[in-house]
Amino acid sequence: MRITVLAGGVGGARFALGLREAAPDDQISIVANVGDDMWLAGVKVCPDLDSLLYALAGVGDTERGWGRAGESERVSAELTAYGVGWPWFTLGDLDLGTHLARAAMLRDGATLTEATARLSARWPLGVTLLPVTDDEVPTHVVTDEGTMHFEEWWVRTRAQLPARRFVQHGVERSRVSAQARAAIAQADVILLAPSNPVVSIGTIVGIPGVRDALETAAAPIVGVSPIIGGRVVRGMAATCLATIGVEADAAAVAAHYGARSRGGLLDGWLAAEEDAAGLPRLRELGIRAEARPLLLTPGGPAAQVAADALALAARVSSPAG
Ligand code: GDP
Ligand code: CA
Repeated sequence: MRITVLAGGVGGARFALGLREAAPDDQISIVANVGDDMWLAGVKVCPDLDSLLYALAGVGDTERGWGRAGESERVSAELTAYGVGWPWFTLGDLDLGTHLARAAMLRDGATLTEATARLSARWPLGVTLLPVTDDEVPTHVVTDEGTMHFEEWWVRTRAQLPARRFVQHGVERSRVSAQARAAIAQADVILLAPSNPVVSIGTIVGIPGVRDALETAAAPIVGVSPIIGGRVVRGMAATCLATIGVEADAAAVAAHYGARSRGGLLDGWLAAEEDAAGLPRLRELGIRAEARPLLLTPGGPAAQVAADALALAARVSSPAG
């Protein structure tokens, strides 16, 4: 079976680990957000692709939740001493190795998809990592103190500076990559990871060609809620939802994605048990919704969450299929 997942960084990685465990014999492709990507201190940083890469390779810092395990920061301190980069955005030494390698490949003419494949080849990931596009589409955040890159808003202001709008710089000139498009078109199951609905999933779906590919895909599309008990699990994503006027509520997020039969994204929605009360209204909207435990911890529940998402996908049918 071919399973294609749309995913951001940390939530995406936790879900991907569970899925790989739940479906070891299936062909898994992960279409990743690139809206957080940037050139910093002369290197290309891809926060979401790297979170996925490191987690799946088993070399990520599981305690901190991002970057490499056993990291040192000597180079970052030198960069800061030269006034290069962002002093509040640490690039670990091992992590910088990835960014340097990727920058070298890109400068030699590789696409981001090709560079990602080469970086991935170092480890037995068991999944294919695909940036949703090879074009640069940085997410900019419009605030009262000016417009800044998403990572500056997220890391420096800790998402505390009110965001008026998110803007995808260059999106109108961008295009879904042929590989990501094929992964969606040829999938037997499509899953939306429990990732940030605005700046991860929203960004992916906003790339020209993605929505069309999802609309015409033969596979059922099932989303997994990033909200548990009316709260965003780990992190500051609620501020992103507030910016686009969506409540931090599992059913509200599903309604925001919309039913595929009515021009939206979802055939099915897996919500947390704590949020079961909100689900009947989704069935009225045309989304088959079920409630299950959704806390993602590696080595146990994450695989069960992925298995539950696959089981729900087997029960819903795609309107295009
Ligand atoms: P980012 O790119 O690193 O911000 O990561 P993602 O966009 O992939 O995912 C971030 C979101 O994952 C958070 O806003 C949470 O809502 C969600 N999340 C994190 N941990 C869990 C979990 O254990 N269960 C579920 N259902 N969602 C989670
Ligand atoms: Ca991200």
